[in-house]
Amino acid sequence: MSTVELADLTTCLHCGQKFSHPRLTIIGDNNARLNSYLKGLNDHLASKHPELGMQMAQHGMAFMEMLFLRNFRTTDPELSEQQDRVRWQVHQQTLKARYPDENLEQQAAGLAGRLIELMLECEQATDDDSELEDVAKNAMTSVIAEAFTSIRDALEEPGKYPAPVPASSKVLV
Ligand SMILES: [Zn+2]
Repeated sequence: MSTVELADLTTCLHCGQKFSHPRLTIIGDNNARLNSYLKGLNDHLASKHPELGMQMAQHGMAFMEMLFLRNFRTTDPELSEQQDRVRWQVHQQTLKARYPDENLEQQAAGLAGRLIELMLECEQATDDDSELEDVAKNAMTSVIAEAFTSIRDALEEPGKYPAPVPASSKVLV
């Protein structure tokens, strides 16, 4: 029985064209395959969507401006606002997770359910009211902290990769 590996696909978000690249391991150069794949994607953008090069250059400029401005601490309100504006622009481009309201409401409802369960469990576990308050508070604190932590980790992605190599360095435009 022959194993036919399904090809991984990369789709251009602007025209729907599909690309794939064999999963060959080239000994001695771990980046050769990825670089050649990126070169093909880059050629596609340059020939089919040349106007995107301008947009990328603008985003690149915002990134450069952020890197430049963050070398200074200022009390000048206008400069300070500009620092925050370019940081925000770059931040919007790199966010992976977004939290729609209904998603947050679902999570809050789940959390409320867990807190009520905890309260009932604590009430059963102890008859002493003063002790109950401490036990319940500790238990609830850890449940709420866990929820905050999961949101923080989704936004900050701490330690996801060993070294911070910006994805933009891979764009060959
Ligand atoms: Zn395209």
